[in-house]
Amino acid sequence: MTTHEKPTKPVPTPDEMSQPFFEGAADNKLVIQKCNSCPAFLWPLKELCTECLSEDLKWEAVSGSGTVHSFVIMHRLFHPGFQDDVPYNLTVVELDEGPRVTTILRNIENEDIHVGLKVQAGWEIAGETSLLHFKPE
Ligand SMILES: [Zn+2]
Repeated sequence: MTTHEKPTKPVPTPDEMSQPFFEGAADNKLVIQKCNSCPAFLWPLKELCTECLSEDLKWEAVSGSGTVHSFVIMHRLFHPGFQDDVPYNLTVVELDEGPRVTTILRNIENEDIHVGLKVQAGWEIAGETSLLHFKPE
């Protein structure tokens, strides 16, 4: 990298286990794991259900609706790819289906973020994949 190149943000690399999530993302659908033996939805990726320990899991599209459970505003640069974003939010969204997703909120000023805010999943293209974020409903 020369000094004139802008650092890029890291992007996830789909693998065999996460492929269904990224296939859903390419279609602007939030697809997460669901247990076949109990009602639990799972996030992040698991090899077995955290509620009943079943290994019988499937992938299912969820609503993409959720509520801000917690958040922080990052004032220090954690990765050079985010230098133009500081200060930015890191937010934990509780999906209506139960799991909590660590994400970034878009389309909102940091000072307007609050616990209990209703949000909806959104997608942005990053290289060959789509990245999940959330925005106010
Ligand atoms: Zn289960």
